[in-house]
Amino acid sequence: MISSPIEEIKNKLDIVEVVGGYVKLQKAGVNYRAVCPFHSEKSPSFFVSPTRQIWHCFGGCSEGGDMFKFVMKIEGIEFGDALRQLAQKAGVELPRRDPEFARMQTERQKLAELVELATQFFQRQLADSHAGKEAQAYLAKRGVTTQSMEKWRLGYAPDTPHSLSQFLLQKGYPEDQVVKAGIAIRTASGMYDRFQSRIMFPVFDLNSQVVGFGGRIFGKDDPAKYLNTPNTLLYDKGRLLYGLDKAKIAIRRQSSCIVVEGYMDAIMVWQAGSENVVATSGTAFTQTQLQILKRYCTNLLLAFDMDAAGDNATHRSFELALAQGFEVKVVPMLHKDPADTILEDPALWQKALEQARSLLTHSFEIQLKKFDKTSAEGKRKIAEELLPLIKKIPNRIEQAHWVGLLAKELRVAEESVREELKGIVNEGTVQVPHAEVLQNKKTRKEMLEERAFALFLRDPKFEILQEEHFQYFSLGNQDILEGIKNHMPFDFAKASEFFEKEVIDFLEYLALKGEVEEDPLDGEENREQELKACLQELQMLSLRKRLEHIIRELKEAEANKDTAKIDTLLAEFQDVSKQIP
Ligand code: ZN
Repeated sequence: MISSPIEEIKNKLDIVEVVGGYVKLQKAGVNYRAVCPFHSEKSPSFFVSPTRQIWHCFGGCSEGGDMFKFVMKIEGIEFGDALRQLAQKAGVELPRRDPEFARMQTERQKLAELVELATQFFQRQLADSHAGKEAQAYLAKRGVTTQSMEKWRLGYAPDTPHSLSQFLLQKGYPEDQVVKAGIAIRTASGMYDRFQSRIMFPVFDLNSQVVGFGGRIFGKDDPAKYLNTPNTLLYDKGRLLYGLDKAKIAIRRQSSCIVVEGYMDAIMVWQAGSENVVATSGTAFTQTQLQILKRYCTNLLLAFDMDAAGDNATHRSFELALAQGFEVKVVPMLHKDPADTILEDPALWQKALEQARSLLTHSFEIQLKKFDKTSAEGKRKIAEELLPLIKKIPNRIEQAHWVGLLAKELRVAEESVREELKGIVNEGTVQVPHAEVLQNKKTRKEMLEERAFALFLRDPKFEILQEEHFQYFSLGNQDILEGIKNHMPFDFAKASEFFEKEVIDFLEYLALKGEVEEDPLDGEENREQELKACLQELQMLSLRKRLEHIIRELKEAEANKDTAKIDTLLAEFQDVSKQIP
C-alpha cells in the first residue's frame, strides 16, 4: 500500500518530539503532560499520547488533534504550511501537483533566496564598511545591543545606486527577479537599488524567513525617513506583523501581545525583556493582522506614540481590535515612544506597562491635557472628543460612571452631559463575540456520553454497556456503538476499515480522555460502577426528554379534542414516569 505524505510524516516523526519542541512535557503514566500552551492555566491539563499520536487539552480550551493540528495552532499557520514544515523536518518529499502552484512555489523560492542574499549583503555592510560602522555606532547610541543587531539581522544599505543589484546580478539572478523581489527599481534610464544610505530592518514571515525590508535613512537627508519594500509575492504589508515570528511563543504563553508602531520600538521592547511584542508596519492595524494575532491571544496592549498621529492610530486600532473581540488596553507612553523610553530607563517602560489602562481612562487624560477645561470652548471640545467613546459603552452602569466623571471634571451638571450624550449618534456598539467560548461548552448529555465512551474504551466489552443502552446516546454515537459491536473484538489498528477518519479521531480522543481522567490505580470494578452510573443518568435524561415530548403531544391532542389519542398518550406518560425514580 502506498502511504500518503501525511502518513509518511506521521510515521517518521513522533508527536512527543514535535510538541516537545514547543512546550515542556512531563511523563505522566503512558502519556505526557504539560501546561496548555493554548489557554492560561496553573495545573497542567494538556496531554500528549505517544501511543495514539494525538494531543488534547482537558482544561479550559478543549483543543486537540494530531501533530499537524498542533503545529497549525501553535505557529498560527494553515495546514499547507504545517505540512511543508513537518515534511521538511521528517525529510519527506511532497509531491507537486498543480503546475501553476509549483511554478509559484519555485518563484517564491527564488525570491526568498534573493532576499536572503540581500539581507546578508546588508549585514556585511553594517559590520565591515566605514559608513556601516557609523550606522552601527548610531544604533548603539540608540540603545540597540550587538546581540539585538544580530538577532534582528540589522544591516546597512550603502549610499550607492548599484552595489546590491550588481552583487545579485553577478550571482546569476536575472534583473527581472531583483525587481520583483522589491530590491531594485527599474526606470527608463536603468535599474537602481531601492534602498540607499539606509539602516536596514529585515521583515520576517512566521518562519523567520526574510520577505522584505524597512529602511531608515542614515547619513543624509531624505524626506522619506522610512522606506519599505512594496508588496511582492513574498511580502504582504497588510498581513505581516514585524516580530511576530520571534514573539509568537511568548504571546501565547503570556496570553497577551504588546503592539508598537516602529521597528526600533519592537527591538528595544524585546531587549527590555518583553518578548511578546510586535510592530505594525503602518500606523493602524489591518483586519488581517488582527485575525492572525487572534490565533495567539485576545489581549492587546497598545504602546503607540503619544503625539497626535499616534493617538489617532491608537483609536483606530482600538476600535478595530474591539470589533474583533480583543480585550485592549493602552500603555501610557510618557516619552515619545517605547524605544526612547527604554533608552532613558528600562524601568520606565516596566512602569508604563503596569499602568496599562482602558482607552477611556487614557482618552480622559489626553483630552483633559489637550484643552482648557475651565473655558466654555474647552469644555465643549473635551465633551465632543469623549462623548462618542462613552456612548459606545454597552453597559449602562459603566456608562453612568463615565458621565459622572466627565461632569465632575468639567464642573457641569451631570444632567447636561447626559442630555448631550443622547444627541450622539452611535456608530454601532462594538459587540464582543463569544461564539468561540460557547462552542466549547458541552451539554451534560454530551459530557455523559463522552465519559461513558471513555470508560468503555478502556476495555471494550458489551457486558455493562449493552445494546438496550444504545438508544440513550445521540444518533451519531449510536452508529459508532453499532460499528464497534459489529467488529468485536475492537481494535484501533483495524478501525480504519470500517470507520471514517473523524470517528477514529473522536474515539482516539475519548480513549486518551479515559487514560487521563481515570485514576490508573482504580480497578476495573470502579470503572464498571462509573460506567453504570453514566448509563443510568443517560437513561434518565432520555426518559425526561421522552416525557417532554409526550406532554407536547398531549397539549396538541387536547387542542384537537382527540380523546382516543389523549388516552394512549396518558397511558404512555404513566409508563415512562414509572421508570423515573
Ligand atoms: Zn488548553
